[in-house]
Amino acid sequence: MATEYELRGQLATCTRIFAMQGMIGVFGHVSVYQPELKRVFITPGMGSDKGSLRAEEMVPCDLTGKALEGEQGPPVEWPIHTAIHAARPDALAVAHLHTPYATLYAIAKRKFQPVTLQGAIFSEGVPLYPEAQLITNPARGEALLKVIADKRAVLLRGHGIVVAGKNLQEVLYASLVLEDDAKKSWQAAALGEVGTISDEECRAFGAEIALERRAQRAWNYFASLEARWDRQPATGRSELFP
Ligand SMILES: [Zn+2]
Repeated sequence: MATEYELRGQLATCTRIFAMQGMIGVFGHVSVYQPELKRVFITPGMGSDKGSLRAEEMVPCDLTGKALEGEQGPPVEWPIHTAIHAARPDALAVAHLHTPYATLYAIAKRKFQPVTLQGAIFSEGVPLYPEAQLITNPARGEALLKVIADKRAVLLRGHGIVVAGKNLQEVLYASLVLEDDAKKSWQAAALGEVGTISDEECRAFGAEIALERRAQRAWNYFASLEARWDRQPATGRSELFP
């Protein structure tokens, strides 16, 4: 079992990397789950400075959103995290983000399909939660769970994205890939029709097989950049595939 110390530290690192990459800011939160203790650690809510978060600032809560210590409760959309953590043993980490490019797919009436080989981890598609509302109660959390089902990510209409993974490394990598593929689709559309990677091609590429290694290497790379980030917007930031 990962210790509280390790989980808090990884959660803070992951969130600061998202901040460095411009993928989290005023809005958005990230969580990690300790199934043995049914305990969620989540980043503080709206307005907290995600780029400077430290391990001790993470908010521990139970699966009903009750804070387990301190004055501060979890962000209002905590049911996103608790619904997925409680139901999916493969989703020990969850990020809810309003990223600039992937969120476009929650606005444009266009289905997300991978356009790069890296994007093949999304070969099963990214479903759309159809209600334009915040996920602020358990009923909405359950409705979201039905839509994401066993998928890696879900789009929230007019709102943002949710990415689930077996650890924070995987959630970071999958979120970076989703954002990168969404950005490249948008850019390629300026040149004409956008080609996508078919399900068959995705399977042949075997992105899932190497996912753990890729996720760990991306984590090492971005954690290293983050460690020398000067906390100013757009410094230290690096494209996933420059
Ligand atoms: Zn939101």
